[in-house]
Formats: sequence, C-alpha cells, structure tokens
Amino acid sequence: MSLLNRIARKSYRTFIGGLYFQGTRQCPMCNWTGFQFEPANQGEFFRFDATCPRCKSQERHRLAYLLLAKRLPARLGKVLHFAPEPCMSKWLSSRTDDYHTADLFLPTVMHKEDICNMTFADDTFDLVWCSHILEHVADDLKAMREIRRVLKPNGLAVIQVPVWGAKTTDEPLSTPEERISKYFQEDHVRRYGADIEHRLRAADLTVETLRTGDLDLQIVLRHGLSDPCGKDIFLATKTTKGSA
Ligand SMILES: [Zn+2]
Repeated sequence: MSLLNRIARKSYRTFIGGLYFQGTRQCPMCNWTGFQFEPANQGEFFRFDATCPRCKSQERHRLAYLLLAKRLPARLGKVLHFAPEPCMSKWLSSRTDDYHTADLFLPTVMHKEDICNMTFADDTFDLVWCSHILEHVADDLKAMREIRRVLKPNGLAVIQVPVWGAKTTDEPLSTPEERISKYFQEDHVRRYGADIEHRLRAADLTVETLRTGDLDLQIVLRHGLSDPCGKDIFLATKTTKGSA
C-alpha cells in the first residue's frame, strides 16, 4: 500500500471515528478519547484495541491506574520502579518526591540493578513497582525475596505478570519458537498461572489479588482492558509479625 493510501485510510478512520464514535474509548491516564486504541503486537500475540495513541499506555497500565489510583496513599513515599514504562513513570513520579528507576539493561534508569541481587539496603522502599519482569527471570523466587528485602516493613509491591490459567508452567524450553508458542515471547522463561500467589507467599509476602472483574463492565470496555493475560494485579505486602 502506498504511503499516500495509508495516510488517506488513517485520516478516513480518524474522521469516521471522530464523527460517530468519539469517546467510545478513553485512556484514564492521559484522558485521550477516540474510536479505539491502537493495536499492540508482542511476539506472536497481536492484540487489537490495546495501546493509547497519546501516552502509549497498554491494558495493564490502565488497569493498574484504575484499580490503584485511589487505593494507594496520596503520597507514595520512596518508590522503586523496575523497567519503567513512560506512562507509569509519569504517574508514579507525580505522587512522590523520592522516585527511583532501576533496570539491568535500560541505559536511561537511575540504578543499574539485578532484581535477584539488588544493591539497596534492607527496608528501603515504601513501594516497589514490578510489572512484566518476573516472567523473564530464571529464579523468580529469589527476585521475590529480594523485593521483600528492600521493602520497608508494611511496604507494598505491585506485581504484574501475564497470567494464563490456574497453574504456572516453567519447564525449560530450548528454542525461541517453543518459548513463543508456550510462553508468549521468546525471552519469557515461564508462563504464570493464578498460582503465582503461592510463589509470592513462599517469599514471605502477604498477597491480595485485584482483577479486571472487580470493575464494572462499562469501565472495562471504555478503557480497553481486554488483554486475556493481563487481568490480574498482585499486591504483595511485607507484613511483619504482629502487623498482619
Ligand atoms: Zn493515554
């Protein structure tokens, strides 16, 4: 398709969308409204109606925002955001004066950190944000224990991973094709099920699970929360004896 043709088609869709469907989708993070979100293409798993054209939020970001914006304290204290996504970064950093980003590979973060062996002292952070990291980590229990270690007593970790079904599968797969087929992406080392809760508890964290189903259907549709693997948020608290 020629460039001119593509531009004409996009303009037409925007015009029609604007004319008849303005406001059928809304991004709660940047207030964009329109006909539908843009598609997202991760590995083999193409998703329609997924990415905000303005702030690039995806379903999981908007879900976290909708479920947690009012639930989290107005001021978040000392925050560690792993593999920071720009839309989440903007939101989280607006709610604290003590915001830190970390990643092992991203060059733009404040701290180069291995989530399984962090350099931070014990009891450092009020909030650790860890979205779509653990499915890449070979020893996820070690990462969970590290998250607990760097949390202050009663500190909270927000954990998101792709979840499919009830049971986690983490047999080693040797080829990228197998990992794409069974774990959604070639750099995923497992496919989590809802039993990730047990793993978090094994790391001595107290777990509460929030789900897309906690929201009204109209909210789910309006904010484009249809990712079949992105319907859960795990709130993991470092409860200490006597504080649970
Ligand atoms: Zn947006």
